[in-house]
Amino acid sequence: MKFEKSKDIYEEGLKYIPGGVNSPVRAFKSVDAGPVFINKGYGNRIEDEDGNTYIDYIGSWGPAILGHSNPQLIEGIEDIIKDGLSFGLPTKVEVDMAKLIVESYPAIDMVRMVNSGTEATMSAIRVARGFTGKNKIIKFEGCYHGHSDSLLVKSGSGTITYGVPTSLGVPEEIVKNTIVCRYNDLEDIRKTFEEQGEDIAAIIVEPVAGNMGLVAAEKEFLNGLRKITKEYSSLLIFDEVITGFRIAYGGASEVYGIDPDIVCFGKIIGGGFPVGAYGGKREIMEIVSPLGGVYQAGTLSGNPLAMHMGYKNIKYLQDNKDIYEKMEKMAIKLEKGIAENIEKTGVKATIVRFKNMLTLFFGEGPFKNYDDVQRCDTNMYAKYFREMLNRGIMLPPAQFECMFLSTAFNDEDLDYTIKANLESLEKIK
Ligand SMILES: *Cc1c(COP(=O)(O)O)cnc(C)c1O
Repeated sequence: MKFEKSKDIYEEGLKYIPGGVNSPVRAFKSVDAGPVFINKGYGNRIEDEDGNTYIDYIGSWGPAILGHSNPQLIEGIEDIIKDGLSFGLPTKVEVDMAKLIVESYPAIDMVRMVNSGTEATMSAIRVARGFTGKNKIIKFEGCYHGHSDSLLVKSGSGTITYGVPTSLGVPEEIVKNTIVCRYNDLEDIRKTFEEQGEDIAAIIVEPVAGNMGLVAAEKEFLNGLRKITKEYSSLLIFDEVITGFRIAYGGASEVYGIDPDIVCFGKIIGGGFPVGAYGGKREIMEIVSPLGGVYQAGTLSGNPLAMHMGYKNIKYLQDNKDIYEKMEKMAIKLEKGIAENIEKTGVKATIVRFKNMLTLFFGEGPFKNYDDVQRCDTNMYAKYFREMLNRGIMLPPAQFECMFLSTAFNDEDLDYTIKANLESLEKIK
């Protein structure tokens, strides 16, 4: 496979964009490769600037759940564009979109549209603080909630750990209000609440973590979070930026049967456009300006084109809920095939699946938290990634990410992937 054009574009990009890319993972640094520049996508295929095609397991990190340039989605898009792109005034489709989300998630009575997942979680935390009148928040090590200051935090040393910034430019005074706990560890949460529960505005959690590789929460863990936040009048925020409308139509809230106070969305709900949203119980959301005192705004929030595309995406999912079972079946087939290959080759690896999301960890499970996944061999993943890339398969360019399926996959694609997986494992073992 040749990557000449991608290389040229990358070199040019390096002059004008930090690292040549607009989001760090795209630089392919953690798989010791250069970035591949994509030219187009259709179905579950993407094509790069050199004309190489790949089966795409990134799917724009989730949004392409119906495949790239799905004809049903893009039909009529020109008519929408012709009517004007943005007004800074309200449009009907924003109300349609909000209604659709509210009807889909029992926990949500009202919802605000924003432009990214980062904005959604950042705003949700402001709302939680404004509503409870408390300042501290809890996040879990290994969960990612976008790049706002108070969430760019990892745990420091000590049992009940105050956050340490994971980025330059984040003041310690800000992350002092972020407490970092261990995922799937209720004991850690209990201790934290016993000591400072009165000051905790909210827990924010990925109910199925997709940003340390795939690590699903145990049901008792999420139930425990729900219980303890109620006890202390703190809010429970589900970050469903990945899982919303993905692992089930009603996301993790539906799968686990839990009623969070605020839910955050992104990725899928834009259908490929930059969209995020946060919604929750009426009495909580009524604190958002202009009804209440929590300020949050956006020039392009609820942008008509983005809303139309997002609405179509979600509406399709609502009208075709059988796709969730179909995607899970495909994921199970992939899981089984890869597990057999691991067995055959004796490579120290574990395939983890939850619904239609998967991660191949180069290490031995169980994987319940950030410490567990940190024991994986990221060099092995890098080698594996490059072998698969050369066989025309685009995996996430980092060990601690997930593979995403879409409705555009078929059995042949999966068989080919399983075969390529066997060859690649053989080669790197
Ligand atoms: C991607 C992601 C975000 C951030 O969304 P952006 O649109 O990239 O800002 C937040 N939370 C989770 C769980 C995510 O996966």
